[in-house]
Amino acid sequence: MTSFEVKQLRLTQQQLIRAKSLAGIDPTDPAVSPPAGSVLANPDELSHNNTYGRLPRFYVDRVVVCRNCGTEEVWPAERQKWWYEVAKGNINTQAVQCRSCRAAERQRKDDARASAGNNSSAIRQSDET
Ligand SMILES: [Zn+2]
Repeated sequence: MTSFEVKQLRLTQQQLIRAKSLAGIDPTDPAVSPPAGSVLANPDELSHNNTYGRLPRFYVDRVVVCRNCGTEEVWPAERQKWWYEVAKGNINTQAVQCRSCRAAERQRKDDARASAGNNSSAIRQSDET
């Protein structure tokens, strides 16, 4: 492991500890003031959520436990804002996989698409042999 990787790992662990300390904060509670490091929500960009529940007023880093490999990872406030406000994700959805599992899944889909395109020629080849 290089010293860069050690530094990255330490940083990740600090982010996890910090995110865990913020876990009790309810961003939809009007009485709660946004903690340091939080990202303010834009209510206009959240209006696609057809909900009678309260929408978040800000985002804080959240801990996500990957459903694939069980890795604990921080879902950063900025990424949440992007997901809910730019990608228009439903407010009841959240990250369920770590970054490496998401990347692996993307790769698998790409591979499947590529092999689907080559299927007909692959069958033809095997017929000839
Ligand atoms: Zn994972």
